[in-house]
Amino acid sequence: MKNKIVAGNWKMNNTFSEAEDLLVAIAESIEDMRLETEIIICPPALYLEMATDIAQESNFYVGAQNVAYAEKGAYTGEISAAMLKSVDVDFCIVGHSERRNYFHETDEELAKKIDILLANQINPIFCCGESLTDRENGNFKQVIENQIKNTLFHLSVEQFENITIAYEPIWAIGTGLTATPQQAQEVHAFIRKLIEEKYGTEMAYNTYILYGGSCNAKNALDLFSCTDVDGGLIGGASLSAQDFVEIVNAAETCTKND
Ligand code: PEP
Repeated sequence: MKNKIVAGNWKMNNTFSEAEDLLVAIAESIEDMRLETEIIICPPALYLEMATDIAQESNFYVGAQNVAYAEKGAYTGEISAAMLKSVDVDFCIVGHSERRNYFHETDEELAKKIDILLANQINPIFCCGESLTDRENGNFKQVIENQIKNTLFHLSVEQFENITIAYEPIWAIGTGLTATPQQAQEVHAFIRKLIEEKYGTEMAYNTYILYGGSCNAKNALDLFSCTDVDGGLIGGASLSAQDFVEIVNAAETCTKND
C-alpha cells in the first residue's frame, strides 16, 4: 500500500491574517484524523515561517513556491534555498507553468534550482506539463519527456530519491478543465516508464507523481484512484480548508481501498 501526497499551492493569495486563519483551520480539521496521506502546504514566501510554526504542532509539511537558482548575493527580491531551510521548509515547487510562462524560467535555470534545493536538503516538487497546442498536436509526451530529461536526469540515484513530480497540463490549470482520469493515467504511466528506464523499477515505483490541474473535492477520488496517480497538487481548491480537507479525505479513501 502506497500512501498519497496532497499538496496545496496557494499561489499569490491571502493576506497575513487570511493565511493564518486558513492554516489554523486546516490544522484543526486534520487534528484528529489518523492520516496516511502526507499533506504539504505551499503558502507565499512571506508566510512560510508562520506556516512552519503552526506545522510543528500539526501533521503537515510546508513547501515554498519558488527558490533562487543562485546561492546568495546580489539577486534583489529573490529568496535562497538556505533561507528557506533556515525557517524549516521541507519542500519547494519548481517549474510551475506560471513561472515558466510569466517569468520565462528555462529548463537550465530549473535544473540549477533543483540542485540548490537538494544541496540544502529541501525536496523539490517538479512540475511538468503540456500546453493545449501540444495536447492537440499530439506531441505532449515529447514535451513532458524533454522537460523531465532536461531538468532532472542529471541527478544521481541518491539525489533523485528526493524528487516528487507533478504532472500539470497547462490547459487544466485554473481553467476548470480537468484531465480525465484516463488522460492523467496515460501521462503518469509514461513518466513512470521514463524514470524506470533511467533509474530502475524500484525508483519508478517509489517516485511520487502527483496530478495538478483543476483537481477539486468532486473529481479527486476518480483521479487519485488511477494506478499511477499518487496524489495531487491543488491550486484553487487549496484556498478553502473544507475543500482541501475533502481532497485529503479522497486520498485517504484511495489508500485504504488499495
Ligand atoms: C496549480 O497551480 O498547481 C494548480 C493545480 O492550480 P488549479 O488547481 O487551480 O488548477
